[in-house]
Amino acid sequence: MDNSNLHFQKLQTAYIFPIIEKKLESVQGKVINLGVGDISLPLAPSVADAICQATQEMTQRPIGYGPSHGYRFLREVICHEEYAPFGIEPEEVFISEGVNSDVADLLQLFDSACSVLVHDPSYPVYRDASLIAGKEVITLPLKEEEGFLPKPPPFRTDLVYLCTPSNPIGEALKGSELEEWIDWAKTHRSILIIDNVYQPFVSSPDVPPSIYALKGGREVAIEMRSFSKGAGFTGLRCGYTVIPKSLHISKLHSNWSRLINIQRNGISYPIQKGAEACFTPIGKKETQKQIDIYKNTGSLFREILKKNRQTFFGGIDAPYIWWKVPQGRSSWEFFDQLLERSRLLTIPGSGFGPGGEGYIRLSCFQTQQTAIEACNALRDHFDTAQLLS
Ligand code: PLP
Repeated sequence: MDNSNLHFQKLQTAYIFPIIEKKLESVQGKVINLGVGDISLPLAPSVADAICQATQEMTQRPIGYGPSHGYRFLREVICHEEYAPFGIEPEEVFISEGVNSDVADLLQLFDSACSVLVHDPSYPVYRDASLIAGKEVITLPLKEEEGFLPKPPPFRTDLVYLCTPSNPIGEALKGSELEEWIDWAKTHRSILIIDNVYQPFVSSPDVPPSIYALKGGREVAIEMRSFSKGAGFTGLRCGYTVIPKSLHISKLHSNWSRLINIQRNGISYPIQKGAEACFTPIGKKETQKQIDIYKNTGSLFREILKKNRQTFFGGIDAPYIWWKVPQGRSSWEFFDQLLERSRLLTIPGSGFGPGGEGYIRLSCFQTQQTAIEACNALRDHFDTAQLLS
């Protein structure tokens, strides 16, 4: 008898990132990797020191299972540094191994029959995790003429995944746009799940520091953040989810707390000490330097694309650029052309949903050296295209 979860059959396409990794393995010679959005700079020294010190501490006294919700010291510093003005308390911040697992596990808080709004294109985990959990997935296409920014629909869903600043588009919702979502969620008694993993890259003044900076945010939104992209923790694993007690479904906070107690045994002490070190003056300085390097890559790519009159989005408040492929070609055709002729590995937009067809995504997570090489390859690409036209 087959008792497996039949919802897996609903997954339409293979997950894009392993496909790209396979593609990379099959290519011979040097490739400039603008594909999978992983970090390319080494860990900040002060963060590494804190992790080493904490590990040493473990040779002096036994440090076993930590609190499943995260150590108090980390929950407090996050609150103090990021949420103090917005009335969020340490008990509302749950430390996790990163946003990915929380994105999926949060679905356990909701009825299996509930509806989830997922945008197209979007980070694939929202759709796939919702389908596997048996939820009803409602897809809302993002439109090029609206800058690929999600707008509240004229109907209700129980949940909405909102990625801002976004992957793959690389654009962030402004305060006024988020306010529209808050109003919509209040009207429809919905919950917004804000994937805010790229928050450290925000520099536009009209993008708020958190959904909780906006009136009503604490009644309708769960916000998830991570040390992955802003502090280079993709290989260390640490993130956090804020579940306010004031949500209009007030049980969500205590139910999440219960779920975490059942399912998780906490993140390791050294890693949480490393995360804490990101908030020291030296930690902030070192991690900001890395963010600035990635942001500078975004500016360089934008400049070249602009000069060559390309249509593109992103690259300011998030480390991704969403580039419209030349007319008459598919995402995969342009991907292959860039890889074969220019040695540039990108990600076809169609890997983020059918609505991404006709685009490719460039990752700005580059060292200064790779950014220069990528810019040269892009310039050569446009020179050749001009010669051939
Ligand atoms: N959310 C988005 C939108 C992402 O792009 C990524 C990673 O690329 C993640 C979440 C994963 O974050 P974490 O490393 O904290 O699991």
